[in-house]
Amino acid sequence: MADVLYRKYRPHTFAEIKGQSVTVSILKQAVATDKLSHAFLFSGPRGTGKTSTARVLAKAANCLHLKKDGDVCGECAVCKEIDNGSFPDLVEIDAASNRGIDEVRLLKEQVNFLPVRGKRKVYIIDEVHMMTKEAFNALLKLLEEPPTHAIFILATTEIHKVPITILSRVQRYDFMLAEQLELSAKLKMIADNEQVEVEDLVWDLIFQFSQGSFRDAETLLMKIMQLKSADGKVSVAEAESVLGVAPTTEVTSIAEALLRGHSVQEVMRTLNDFSSRGGNLVYLAKQIASHIRQGLVEEKEPISKRLSQVLNMLISIQSEAKFIDDVRMLWDVGLLKVFSELQPQMKGGGDAPKSDIPSQKGNMPSHSVKKTQVEQQPVQVSSSEVVQAGGQWEKFLLVARKVDLKLWTCLQGAIYDHERNVVVVPGSYAFEELQKDTMRGKLDKAANQIFGATISGIEMSKNAIMGESSNAELVESIL
Ligand SMILES: [Zn+2]
Repeated sequence: MADVLYRKYRPHTFAEIKGQSVTVSILKQAVATDKLSHAFLFSGPRGTGKTSTARVLAKAANCLHLKKDGDVCGECAVCKEIDNGSFPDLVEIDAASNRGIDEVRLLKEQVNFLPVRGKRKVYIIDEVHMMTKEAFNALLKLLEEPPTHAIFILATTEIHKVPITILSRVQRYDFMLAEQLELSAKLKMIADNEQVEVEDLVWDLIFQFSQGSFRDAETLLMKIMQLKSADGKVSVAEAESVLGVAPTTEVTSIAEALLRGHSVQEVMRTLNDFSSRGGNLVYLAKQIASHIRQGLVEEKEPISKRLSQVLNMLISIQSEAKFIDDVRMLWDVGLLKVFSELQPQMKGGGDAPKSDIPSQKGNMPSHSVKKTQVEQQPVQVSSSEVVQAGGQWEKFLLVARKVDLKLWTCLQGAIYDHERNVVVVPGSYAFEELQKDTMRGKLDKAANQIFGATISGIEMSKNAIMGESSNAELVESIL
């Protein structure tokens, strides 16, 4: 249903494309002066209109009644056929489907045939970064000597994965996320057209949830509009329930538990409850951060180390959520860090005694290191020291982060047992993820790079109960 709305309101002409005014005016100018390039690359986040613009450009290259300013007529047979997907000279390839191998091979065979109906044959290759090396090489040959009748439009959300050889052969256009005013204006137009009255604050909410992606925003609007009551109205409260916004009381109580609570389990239980009711965990991080900032501004909230840790955690949940689907894991990792810092104060009301060799357990191997006297004795070491100390482990985490963000996340709160060359992780999720061949391969790659050796094994902490053990418990289970 939501997809229907997206298709219904997708732009059909250059004039209807919102938020990309510079790109649109350059393209129109090229069309109007008949100076269209043979190869384009549209890059930008999802839902910014890359494919829609590519289709309008395909129309412009073939429209029977092109306007003087370079825009398409939207009425001729070509424009209509491209709209309903039946124009024979527009070929759309999704490189994500099987990494483009067969498609590019077929393309190579067919590219020299003249267009059947139009002036130009247009090839749109979506998610082009997913192509294999072989497919890229074949595509490069086509781009080096394109037939005069062919236009290639490549689209990607991950420009850094497109080889430089391809980039040097295309005209590149960067697509931006929409500004709030543009996005809200389009949503209001849709709601008016669908005869649904939406309270003004809902537009702000949709903008925050969609982060400027037209497609995401229209999908959310569709869900919200389905709620309309008999009088055709949608209230802010109704929209909030669809979007999974936490009520103020819940935000306040979680913020309190984060800033002053002593039990990580208590917060985790609240989060379980919240997400099982359909709550949005990314937006919750934003809500709590706003609540805390407001407290600071009004001088109700004293500045403390804990407060800064909590804010850091909330900010990183919001930014990392763009790359990782499992938001709950981001929360758990952040909570473990914040609450493990608290542990020494709970035990003795002060900092835990510092060890002379805090890095021994946290460091990655050095297989030649012999068991020292200090090591045989039970040494009180604060969890944060064990986790954070030691340059090599830190370096290893940095490399792991570059290799794969998910790998890095799985290693948060993990301990390295150098005697057995084993990594002990705090929860079942990270444990299971690291058992998978691809993730294990990535772990070994990072380990090899820093230590010149692979890891012998992955274990789960004995004290890990549903991923709720704190770092301190972990440390104790090993010591
Ligand atoms: Zn036309």
